[in-house]
Amino acid sequence: MRQSQLFTKTRKEAPGDEVSKNAQLLIRAGFIHKEMAGVYSLLPLGLRVMKKIENIIRDEMNMIGGQEVSLTALQEKTTWEKTGRWSDEVVDNWFKTKLKNETELGLAFTHEEPLTALMTSFINSYKDLPCSVYQFQTKFRNELRSKSGIMRGREFLMKDLYSFCRTHEEHEAFYKKVMHAYHAIFERIGIGSHTYLTFASGGSFSKYSHEFQTLTDAGEDEIYVEKNKKIAINKEVLTEEVLADLGVEKSELSVEKSVEVGNIFTLGTKFSEPLNLSFAGEDGKNHPVIMGSYGIGLGRLMGTVVELNNDENGIIWNTSIAPFSVHLVSLCKDEVDIKKCDELYEMLKKKGVEVLYDDRDSRAGEKFADSDLIGIPVRVVVSPKTLAHDSVEYKKRTESTPSILKIEDFLADVH
Ligand code: ATP
Ligand code: MG
Repeated sequence: MRQSQLFTKTRKEAPGDEVSKNAQLLIRAGFIHKEMAGVYSLLPLGLRVMKKIENIIRDEMNMIGGQEVSLTALQEKTTWEKTGRWSDEVVDNWFKTKLKNETELGLAFTHEEPLTALMTSFINSYKDLPCSVYQFQTKFRNELRSKSGIMRGREFLMKDLYSFCRTHEEHEAFYKKVMHAYHAIFERIGIGSHTYLTFASGGSFSKYSHEFQTLTDAGEDEIYVEKNKKIAINKEVLTEEVLADLGVEKSELSVEKSVEVGNIFTLGTKFSEPLNLSFAGEDGKNHPVIMGSYGIGLGRLMGTVVELNNDENGIIWNTSIAPFSVHLVSLCKDEVDIKKCDELYEMLKKKGVEVLYDDRDSRAGEKFADSDLIGIPVRVVVSPKTLAHDSVEYKKRTESTPSILKIEDFLADVH
């Protein structure tokens, strides 16, 4: 893409009321636009990052057999009344609305109830199980605080997966698969080494649930971390019993600030019983379906990556989720040189390289500052000087000094 065509511009300052680093950088670099506290729109660069995160997650969900759907954001009150979760005393972050005829509706904060109800149309016999269903869908939550930028939105994109099994053993086996898939996702996104499997409270159907907590001072949570075993314990469940279960000593744990990027949860029959999701077993009897739910916040993930990977000049994207792989920066002024740079851009596109081409007529200093702020992993500068030697100036975003590469060598290597 030609940067001269990109409608967004970088800015020197973020809005004065924006206190979080992730939103400040993402707004200044033109990835997101702040509509109001906790509500952000995605701009072209931000959407590209979000789609890459989405595709990594989709890939891992498909590998464990998940089937993708997209449920509605408008939800029926009667479904939620069956599980007792329509009440504002039980769920404190509902956004609710009304039809013209006064019928109340909910705006999705999660999808256990509607999906469980939907599955009653399709699950009847043991032959229909096990199965798992996921989506990338907008959630609405009337969060009390929204000081963490896109890490805590009032409207945000979530990947939510739900599993439907016949027995607890079948559920346990799938739960483990999801755990592995989550590790793979966070590894691929580039935050694996900072992300800890964290033991949290399990409700009434399993001893623990698991959170995936990423260490960062920008996080709102505090966890007890065992760095050698690469596990952690949520503050709320830290007891002698848990320590014994995990074979760790309290003295070996350090308290760290963190953000919950994902979680996995055994639901048992909490939703299937009240919503009548059952199956006829091989024994001829009816049994409630055993369920699990598994969430990941995509905006929260993007915000976390920015919190972890930045310097005084801007964002540093990991290649796997960067909006583009190469930032081609032209310092050429006369026609012949501009033509050569255009040709290089075309060749890169032909090779399938995702390039942002800074073809704007602005000062070198401004272009370099923008390039660092946007944070594309590789910067390639073309100037009259480099062209005189059939070369480019090549620099990774993480490096401070560029190296000179022959254009043909650069082209042979780049991907
Ligand atoms: P938290 O304790 O941080 O509020 P939660 O327990 O409410 O999280 P879930 O309801 O389990 O989270 O949602 C699943 C995932 O969705 C979370 O692991 C997180 O990654 C993401 N998430 C939750 N709330 C938000 C939010 N307000 N903005 C962005 N992502 C969110
Ligand atoms: Mg919450």
